[in-house]
Amino acid sequence: MISVGRQGKDILVGHTADGLMLPSEQWVLRSPGGAVGWVVKCDCPDRTTRILARWTRVASPEEEDLTRGARYAADEDVTDLDVRDDVERQALALWDAHRLPGLAAKELQRPAEAARRARAALDEALATARTAGLSWADVGRAVGATRQSARERWGS
Ligand SMILES: [Zn+2]
Repeated sequence: MISVGRQGKDILVGHTADGLMLPSEQWVLRSPGGAVGWVVKCDCPDRTTRILARWTRVASPEEEDLTRGARYAADEDVTDLDVRDDVERQALALWDAHRLPGLAAKELQRPAEAARRARAALDEALATARTAGLSWADVGRAVGATRQSARERWGS
């Protein structure tokens, strides 16, 4: 049961159990007592929906075990995940684990492209320098390397 809001005491349910949004004419009102769990999901920028966790509602605070996805919520708190800091932190940790690897991989792309362009520019400048008559020792001094390593890098 995933809600899209409340109407009085009832919950307006607008998603399937898999977290997919239903057309509004299929939304239904349910009493909060009928909530059996939650789907933690991400509506990703690529327009897919990923299920990050399914939490089961337990009948009492004593039965709660967030590490197993067993969560207690009173009827009035069923729709408000952020009413408890620990529950909100757990949901955010799931989201971070889902999204941060992709963001980190994306962060690599720009500097990797800049490095490719810099290497190409260096190769071109080196060819010009060799044509102009620079020795490998001159090249090494210009690029901050030894004569031998400059020759090993660009010599043929
Ligand atoms: Zn996502």
